[in-house]
Amino acid sequence: MPSRNPKSKIQDLALPHVAALHAYTPGLQPGEPGWIKLNTNESPYPPSPRVVEALRREIGEDGASLRLYPNPASAALREAVARLHGLGADQVFIGNGADDVLNLLVRCFCAPASAAGFTLPSYSLYPVLVGIQDGRAVSLDFDRSMKLPVDAIAASAAKVFFLTSPNAPTGVGFRTADIEAILRRFHGLLVVDETYAAFAEENAAGLLPQHPTLCIVRTLSKSHCLAGMRVGYALARPEVIGLLDRVKDSYNVSRLAQAGALAALGDPDYYAALVRKIKATRDRVHGQWTTKLGWFTQPSQANFLFTEPRDRAGRTGPEVARGLYDFLYARKILVRHFGSHALTSSFLRISVGTDGAMLVLQENLEAWLKHA
Ligand SMILES: *Cc1c(COP(=O)(O)O)cnc(C)c1O
Repeated sequence: MPSRNPKSKIQDLALPHVAALHAYTPGLQPGEPGWIKLNTNESPYPPSPRVVEALRREIGEDGASLRLYPNPASAALREAVARLHGLGADQVFIGNGADDVLNLLVRCFCAPASAAGFTLPSYSLYPVLVGIQDGRAVSLDFDRSMKLPVDAIAASAAKVFFLTSPNAPTGVGFRTADIEAILRRFHGLLVVDETYAAFAEENAAGLLPQHPTLCIVRTLSKSHCLAGMRVGYALARPEVIGLLDRVKDSYNVSRLAQAGALAALGDPDYYAALVRKIKATRDRVHGQWTTKLGWFTQPSQANFLFTEPRDRAGRTGPEVARGLYDFLYARKILVRHFGSHALTSSFLRISVGTDGAMLVLQENLEAWLKHA
């Protein structure tokens, strides 16, 4: 006899913490064309033409290479990343995106009795990864100044602490000196998620030789225009890398992803020019919003802007931000609103697009100001 309520039966079989889990909410990825997509910090520009060539070469005439498993260690890519950072290949781990690396770090260091820490706001995937592991979470709140809570992080009992620098969704960059001050006193592993480092003034990679408890996470998704390819990496002591290697999927990075990422790293001039362009657009738009519109906009060291919209009557707040989100959505412009935290709910996070896209956005912001 089939069970009358199979759904609740399965719920009972599943681990309670998994059955109760709230999944991560990714930004919308509309299927149909015509959207201006400024909601997930992807690059508005295509990757280096060398990436496309490398992918064609890897596929070949008939795709025969796709029959074969990829190199399990992503060995050539590890070597290339190691050279890029002046490290040994045993100090590099390649993941299926930075998210894979973050997930494996949680798997290695976090459990019901081993807390993982993070700041609020920061990348909202961390608490989800901790929840999957049924781990204990320690969250530390920023105040409105967004100043890094150095003492609180250093004093936390977390086994692993995730620090997003520059932070998301605020775009605020942290001083390397402050990160070093944490490292001198914090007893756990400090993971600095440097997804946006290419757009920042400073990064913490130079601290790796002196600080055995530092792990840096980077990705090719944003600065290298390869979010669809899924390649990220960790830089750390061989002991940390060895742990990640123990728990990863055997073939965690596909053949095409390894080939494409290698080609991207082989064209640094192309990417340096793109990063310069995105930063120039970012800084110009930041100036427009702060001076022309009078909107408080965080100084950004990333490829997005975090701004507090002010309506025609001079009001700010969660309803104003949501109202502008809806107004833009109705005009097929996608941005991001994080409504669940007091420090983010009256802001919108808007990725830096092409100059053309930012012009259309600006026209729509001005239309909203007339309408609202
Ligand atoms: C986008 C993002 C990631 C995810 O990067 P992938 O390599 O695409 O998985 C990780 N951390 C932060 C802070 C991000 O914004």
